[in-house]
Amino acid sequence: MLYTSTRKKLENITSTKAILQGISEEGGLFIPTELPKMDFTLDELSKWGYQELAYRVIKLFFEDIKEEDLKHCITHAYDEKFDTKEITPLVHTKTANFLELFHGPTIAFKDMALSILPYFMLVSKKYNKEEKDIVILTATSGDTGKAALEGFANVEGTKIIVFFPQDGVSEVQKRQMLTTEGDNTLVVGVEGNFDDCQTTVKEIFADKEFAKEIADKNYKFSSANSINIGRLVPQVAYYFAAYGKMMKDGKLKAGEAMNVVVPTGNFGNILAAYYAKQMGLPIQKLICASNTNKVLFDFLQTGTYDRNRAFHLTTSPSMDILISSNLERLLYHISGESTEEVCSLMNALKTKGQYTISDEMKANLKDFYGGYADDQMTKDYIKKVYNEENYLMDTHTAVAYAVYDTYVKDTKDHTPTVIISTASPYKFTGSVMSAIDEKYEGVNDFTLLEEMHHLIQGAMPKAMDQIATRPIKHKKVCEVQGMKQVVSDFLV
Ligand SMILES: *Cc1c(COP(=O)(O)O)cnc(C)c1O
Repeated sequence: MLYTSTRKKLENITSTKAILQGISEEGGLFIPTELPKMDFTLDELSKWGYQELAYRVIKLFFEDIKEEDLKHCITHAYDEKFDTKEITPLVHTKTANFLELFHGPTIAFKDMALSILPYFMLVSKKYNKEEKDIVILTATSGDTGKAALEGFANVEGTKIIVFFPQDGVSEVQKRQMLTTEGDNTLVVGVEGNFDDCQTTVKEIFADKEFAKEIADKNYKFSSANSINIGRLVPQVAYYFAAYGKMMKDGKLKAGEAMNVVVPTGNFGNILAAYYAKQMGLPIQKLICASNTNKVLFDFLQTGTYDRNRAFHLTTSPSMDILISSNLERLLYHISGESTEEVCSLMNALKTKGQYTISDEMKANLKDFYGGYADDQMTKDYIKKVYNEENYLMDTHTAVAYAVYDTYVKDTKDHTPTVIISTASPYKFTGSVMSAIDEKYEGVNDFTLLEEMHHLIQGAMPKAMDQIATRPIKHKKVCEVQGMKQVVSDFLV
């Protein structure tokens, strides 16, 4: 199994090379030359634990990783860092089935990929005889930074530097990052906004002279953002896990159709579901849920992708995105793997901020259904499901639930459905608590953590326990112009 690019036919790119490189030289994304087919039965799915299942799925994509190495990656990624042995529990309420992907160290679904990516990086380094230490550079507006920090902290042969806008993340998010342990980690608040951080990080990546300077010190930059194929592939596995659990819990029989609803931002999670379907998992509808930034909803309706619009800050910030990077991979597949077509669409997006796909391509989107929910709907559904079903959803999951409810009313399609739950309500205490009762509006996030703990049963997630009193390990703050120097100083 080899990899090619969405923008140019390539040869001889192994999965480990694609992981190490992150993005193809001409700017395209790496994709398998052919999507694998599942080589196990659906009945087997309900018998395996998460580690076994992940192994059986990931090995089909990363054939060049030896069995013992891949097993090492998996057992070290999906271990006691997760607060349940099941890793991805499926929870049934009166009206829905939730696949909870938030039981990892940072209580959001990015842990599913970022807890394994560092191990893939190490294996990739070894196979490609890369002797230098890998330095992960990340700009974050909140969730990704902490998940990447947790993944790479104390991983030998790597360092990680995270920049965040000093006044642009929530108190809880900031505290989560600043209390990160590990000698190989550096977290820096920047006196600027997220765009400043992101732009400067990209400049540092593109700076050939600087790359040479750090190469002399035996370092090499890499990126942990969601277009890395090493982040996408591990996400395919949990769709198989969902199906196995639905069977085991008597919600469907082997071979019967299942729908999935995915709260979507950068289109990575739902693309993983699409891959699972292409591999042979009986997924029928891929329901793509957006918030008010509904660029994907409009695209699925009209075939026109148009980013020329106002950007909205919503209560589901991890979906506040106008350019869904991973959609490029879907365009490649629905265009009959035409790199020319992808190049021309991506060029139009870059120059005009929009593109329109052909009718043939649009016809290939028939398994997708787009929906969206605004902040008011999100709030209403949090309250309704909490009151009527005693289940507390976070804002991102609530967007998905709202779209699911609308879909069923619209289509009368009662196919068993799994809603992908991407974050714990503890991560967005302010929005969640004020949705269930107005009296919580404006109350401090740390106070609300305790209030929420009173409301829902079970232990406080480790990620939040004592968060208000943990020692701050990272105190550095810099100006935008000083970011490069900070990197240089850290890499001695
Ligand atoms: C990143 C994120 C999403 C969006 O996932 P994509 O793969 O980017 O579509 C949804 N919910 C939460 C909580 C996230 O952190």
